[in-house]
Amino acid sequence: MVTTDEIARISVFAALGPAERERLSRAAADLSLVPGEYAADEGGERALFAVLEGRIEAVKLVDGIERVVGERRPGELFGEVPIALGTVFPVGFRAAETSRVMRVEAPDYHAVAAVEPDIAREIGRLARHRMSGSGGLQGIAAEPPPPRAIVVGHRWDASCAELRRFLDRNQITFTWLLPDAPDAAEQWGGSLPDDGDCPTIRVVDGKTVARPELRRVAELLGLPTEATAAKYDVVIIGAGPAGLAAAVHAASEGRRTIVIERAAPGGQAGTSSRIENYLGFPNGVSGEALASRALQQARRLGAEILVTRSVARIDATARQVHLEGGDDVLYADAILLACGVAWRQLSIPGFDRLVGKGISYGAMPSEAPNTHGLDVHIVGAGNSAGQAAMFFAGHAGSVTILCRGESLEKSMSRYLADQLATRPNIRAMNRTEVVAAHGELSLEALDVRNGATDETTRLESGGLFLFIGADAETGWLPPEIALDRHGYVLTGSDVRAAGHWELERDPYLLETSVQGIFAAGDVRSSPVKRVASAVGEGSMAIAFAGQYLKNRETELTAQA
Ligand SMILES: Cc1cc2nc3c(=O)[nH]c(=O)nc-3n(C[C@H](O)[C@H](O)[C@H](O)COP(=O)(O)OP(=O)(O)OC[C@H]3O[C@@H](n4cnc5c(N)ncnc54)[C@H](O)[C@@H]3O)c2cc1C
Repeated sequence: MVTTDEIARISVFAALGPAERERLSRAAADLSLVPGEYAADEGGERALFAVLEGRIEAVKLVDGIERVVGERRPGELFGEVPIALGTVFPVGFRAAETSRVMRVEAPDYHAVAAVEPDIAREIGRLARHRMSGSGGLQGIAAEPPPPRAIVVGHRWDASCAELRRFLDRNQITFTWLLPDAPDAAEQWGGSLPDDGDCPTIRVVDGKTVARPELRRVAELLGLPTEATAAKYDVVIIGAGPAGLAAAVHAASEGRRTIVIERAAPGGQAGTSSRIENYLGFPNGVSGEALASRALQQARRLGAEILVTRSVARIDATARQVHLEGGDDVLYADAILLACGVAWRQLSIPGFDRLVGKGISYGAMPSEAPNTHGLDVHIVGAGNSAGQAAMFFAGHAGSVTILCRGESLEKSMSRYLADQLATRPNIRAMNRTEVVAAHGELSLEALDVRNGATDETTRLESGGLFLFIGADAETGWLPPEIALDRHGYVLTGSDVRAAGHWELERDPYLLETSVQGIFAAGDVRSSPVKRVASAVGEGSMAIAFAGQYLKNRETELTAQA
């Protein structure tokens, strides 16, 4: 309980009369925090806090890295910016040592401020100072974040494109130098690497490596690539929305949890420029932001998340997970398949040669500036194609959606089709298919055929982005895990119906044909392929895994 004497010791409230102090004392929550515990998260709802004991630090996430940007001592406030401006918390506040804080909810603060206008004036003054004073939020936001790496490589070198995409997807800030740019040597700080050594990466204050493998890049940047143990309660394969949601739930339940991801956290969703239908984000959220928050949450709760590691094989009987590129074998009590789907590849003349040189399956938002002023093409008619068109339209000269069907409205959400119609530099060519790609060093033109007239036309193209659907990549799973005829993993009642279940008990809703191995998200045989469903299934799968493990423990105890 916060006493009226303690309230009087907070400078802003010192002049309050006894009745108002009493009112605040009744309304305020008394929070005890252990070191590292957050009183308010960045992006959290507004409230006013005062430090009663200990020390609180203000923390801002910049490029995925937490930076301490201020501190508060007993008698000082935090939360005055969101309270004064009616916004969410622009920075988080966590205990630097064992601390006690009081929290006043916005309506209680406003009730006191209505009676004592001097308090509102003082809070407004403090908020202005926090924004613009020395070390204020304005200064932090204006400070350019230092890049963590410098990459030298040619625009149309597919390995350089892969390296840049990898850095983007892992939210690593980097400077990309084109070897023929006039100031490249100056920015690099010496003579540039030979063409044969490109791409070369230099980690700022670290090593320089020519033509590195992605795993080596991850190691150079300190991204985790090695498991810290050999045995886990739950091994999760894939760090898309399903895998990350599962990691959050498993770790928060105290289970020893590891996620193995072959590329970067976020999965397909991590490449989406704007997800509009995920609950709780009224203005949409970029896949990158969603992935970064989920990753942070999973790690904070104690899950290990490895990147650049693929699962090559599972031994279903021994419950072993074999990682590619080494002898690493992990033993798991329960396994979750959250490995999603991968872009379908087109077999069209010129494509294989030009992938990474102007042709790309999917797209990262960071690729948009490379299309500045160019005429780019998008193949696909689903929402992901529509989102990409909207995004590229802000950079490219024109965006043409090549759609095999009769109209976009048939396959795209109405809100997105309506948004596309408002952009003068976006057009759709219906009943149109790409039949060839041309270019020497990079993509220069496309041949497209009109399905109605059978006429083929050549279009100049500065970039082609393919959003043509995806398939489950489950060929590596052991034969004991039953699949549907398209390669998606069967679960729950579908497993029994297909004759792949022999136990007396029913399989759990998300359990595969092997007990204790679960599947969630896009890899699962189900017509729903969405971020929200992947998140929901990932969370549910952990609840089922928990029940499975509990029953198994009971059986083992009974046998002993
Ligand atoms: C461009 C785009 C835009 C989209 N927009 C929306 C939207 O606005 N709203 C919406 O609801 N949905 C959207 N979706 C669909 C949504 O992103 C997916 O339904 C969702 O990401 C599925 O999540 P998941 O975790 O099941 O699989 P994925 O996101 O596919 O993640 C699976 C992960 O597993 C990894 N992996 C695969 N195999 C292995 C292996 N053997 N070893 C280790 N790791 C492995 C992959 O690298 C990947 O990171 C979009 C999809 C795309 C591509």
